[in-house]
Parts: sequence; C-alpha cells; structure tokens
Amino acid sequence: MAANFARLEDDLRAVERAGVDLFHWDIMDGHFVPNLTFGPAVLRDLRKVTTLPFDVHLMVTHPEKWIDAFAEAGADSLSIHLESEGDLAGNLKKIRDKKLQAGLVLNPETSFDAIAAEIYPLIDRILIMSVKPGFGGQSFIDVTDKIAKAAALKHQFPKLDIMVDGGINTDTAPRAIAAGATTLVSGSALFGGGFDALFPKIRGGAA
Ligand code: ZN
Repeated sequence: MAANFARLEDDLRAVERAGVDLFHWDIMDGHFVPNLTFGPAVLRDLRKVTTLPFDVHLMVTHPEKWIDAFAEAGADSLSIHLESEGDLAGNLKKIRDKKLQAGLVLNPETSFDAIAAEIYPLIDRILIMSVKPGFGGQSFIDVTDKIAKAAALKHQFPKLDIMVDGGINTDTAPRAIAAGATTLVSGSALFGGGFDALFPKIRGGAA
C-alpha cells in the first residue's frame, strides 16, 4: 500500500535489493475497511516480477469469496481477520487446503483472548495490527502486551510466526521485536527511503 502504484515493479525491485524477506499485500474491499486497493489480477502480474514470498492480508468482510482467487494469483500465505464474517475455522482450513500458510489477524481493539483455543492449530501466523486497518501512514499503537501473549504460544507451536503490521519504523521496530515479534511489516517508513536506517534496527534487534 505504501508503494507507488504507477511503478510497482520498480518499487518491488528496490525493496527486494534492500533485503526484504517477503512482500505483504494489503487487500481492501471498501466494506470491511473504508478503502480499496487492488485485486488478484494485479497480484498475478506482480508475481512474475519476483520470487520472494507473497503474503496476502485480506482486509475483507467475506474472505471465503477471495481465497481461491488469491491462491491462484500466486499468494504463498493468506491472512484473514478474526473480525471478518463467516466460518473462521473453515476459512483457515480452506487456506491450508490450498497449500498456503494461514494467518489470523487481530485489529488493535480486539483482545488476544478472542482467539478460541481450537483455532491455534489451524494457523501458521498471528498478524497483530498496530494501527487501524485501512490506511497507511498511521502511528504505532502500543500492542506489545498482545505481541507477548502471541509469542508465548510459541512454546506450544514453535513455528508460529508473530507478525506485527502498522507504524513500524526505526523507533517501533525494536519495541515490537523485544515483545516477541518474528516478522515486521513496514510500509511508509520503508518506502519513504528508510531502508538503510530501518534494516539494521530490524536485523540487529532480531539477532
Ligand atoms: Zn497488512
């Protein structure tokens, strides 16, 4: 969302050279959030530009309508909101049936305890929003307690990825990592030209 949509290919190549591990795509339906981004057709074309994993974050009301299309477009992982409608467990299973990693997203105001215990074995990733979903350029909301609760689950599920999304910059990256984040999503700070400043903080903090 933070890239220049008129030259997505150039921007992809630039951040790939900078050393990112994956691309995170914010898909908005204009209903779950009051904004729109793009759909699977755009992702399918971008899939030809890079071999890095594509992580698709569905900020949509009805994720079941989109799982097939984004799987076919080349997603490697699909994350859906706990606050979305429909059969949460069924949708997560459907994502895994497509041989993709399944992620569960929590909005800032959603308690970690809202995740039912039977959901844990169905997910590869918990995506903790540290801004309100729908717009770029927001400030980091302190969700470090929630990150720590998610990280504690790694005792039981060692491969679980704890991703933090929103307001990640040179100040907030170390805080998220200290709380237990294992993957950080950076938009505005990274695309604002902050590769050189941000990457040592992220890599250093993770070491
Ligand atoms: Zn996102």
